[in-house]
Amino acid sequence: MVQKPVAKVVKTPVAKKKKKPAIKKKKNGFKKFWKLGIEEYNTQDFDVGPDAELIVKEGNFQYNIFDIVKKYGTSTEIMFPTVIENRVRDLIETFNAYIKVLGYKGKFFYHYAMKVNQNKEFVLPAVAEGANLEVSSANELYLVKRMIEKDKFNAKIRVICNGPKTEKYISLIEELKSKGLIVIPIIEDETELERLTKFKGEVGIRVNLDIKVQSHWDKKFNRYGFTEEELLRIGKIKNLSVLHYHISKQIENVQGIIKPLKRALSLYNQLREKNPGLDTLDIGGGAGVPFEKKKHFYTGKSLIAQIVKTAKRECDKLGTKHPNLIVEWGSYVAAPAQITIYKIIAEKTVGNKGNMKWYVIDGSFMNDLIDTWAIHQKWHVIPVNHMNSRKLEKVWLAGASCDSDDKYTAGGTYIMLPRLSETDELYIAVMDTGAYQDSLASHHCLLSSPAKLIAQNGEIKIARRRELPEDVGKLFGW
Ligand SMILES: *Cc1c(COP(=O)(O)O)cnc(C)c1O
Repeated sequence: MVQKPVAKVVKTPVAKKKKKPAIKKKKNGFKKFWKLGIEEYNTQDFDVGPDAELIVKEGNFQYNIFDIVKKYGTSTEIMFPTVIENRVRDLIETFNAYIKVLGYKGKFFYHYAMKVNQNKEFVLPAVAEGANLEVSSANELYLVKRMIEKDKFNAKIRVICNGPKTEKYISLIEELKSKGLIVIPIIEDETELERLTKFKGEVGIRVNLDIKVQSHWDKKFNRYGFTEEELLRIGKIKNLSVLHYHISKQIENVQGIIKPLKRALSLYNQLREKNPGLDTLDIGGGAGVPFEKKKHFYTGKSLIAQIVKTAKRECDKLGTKHPNLIVEWGSYVAAPAQITIYKIIAEKTVGNKGNMKWYVIDGSFMNDLIDTWAIHQKWHVIPVNHMNSRKLEKVWLAGASCDSDDKYTAGGTYIMLPRLSETDELYIAVMDTGAYQDSLASHHCLLSSPAKLIAQNGEIKIARRRELPEDVGKLFGW
């Protein structure tokens, strides 16, 4: 029969080679299943290794995440400075490319919003790629002062100062200004307007645009800045060079950024009548990150193209000078630069939910990933090992604190993870944790914060070791 010789052929080396594509296809299948290797999802550097373990690439270096957590333990954050560098570089290059191609006359300035992540390992790579800074408090500005004192910055770096201007904050602004730094306070209310008439440099002013967009933030209660009418009534503002607004974070579609931009350009045009020195529009933060890896999400490139096109078209229509453009995108740059790894330490059945399980992690959502709880953030969660498992379980995740709110239910649905009984041990990675979670972190039930590792140039450095009981006790006066 025909079949027999074919079966024999399979044993020859040539036939073995033929089998290879099948294995490769399977592997790519798992890569696809966990939504890795996809640029729109910011997972282009993630892959499934030959042992079904999570791999993160940095150029031609690569990190086996399972090996790393076996060595350093969990809970652990792993931060990739290269991601910050690449995202800042791409962002600046893309803006400049569209400015050139479209014949836009203003300049572009990127300001890294420090409040998104103030860790040195986040800020310095951004600065190294040409980021300016945006600070939201005197304490953040104090970090800038320390960097200047160490001669870390060239004199051209620009710092935008948002947030309530206490006297301490204003005197630090004045001190840094007198040292030659370009530091631009943004006026947010009447008191600051009055106080900053004494300031000797450029100032900006913040408008609270009367506009709603799809995002995480309830705009009804926005308390920052002046209304459009108030600004037009004030008229002339001493040394005004920047008009600033910040609509929200995690804006869900491009129109949510373009609509306020149009409105602000019209205001910019009107304010220029009495303030000819006004030459810059700062559109704040808000560019989103595809946390969920589900819906189609806009890319940075398409967003930037729309911003420059809109600015040019509207200004030409109004017959006004093209403003310099500032963006203060924080999450966009920082979120994809970090992952948080936990070990699954127990499994429990979910009360009356039939086939659902709780997986308990060796860390805490309430402490380490507080947006899970605060704004119902949805995360992309993947296994770190056993990535080729076909026996999956529908699970909710529970934190190890004593609090019933310490959980992640993916918004009431579930996530899929390998069945625990099929694994010797299971680790998971929560992706895109680089924005906001660090400075909001807490110590409920006195759990230790995750260790923080930096992965760069193929090497792992410990930026913050895991807290010992005595470290945590100290925080509470023991
Ligand atoms: C928080 C904040 C940002 C950063 O916002 P993202 O949405 O993370 O980009 C930028 N500008 C201001 C004024 C902010 O308050």
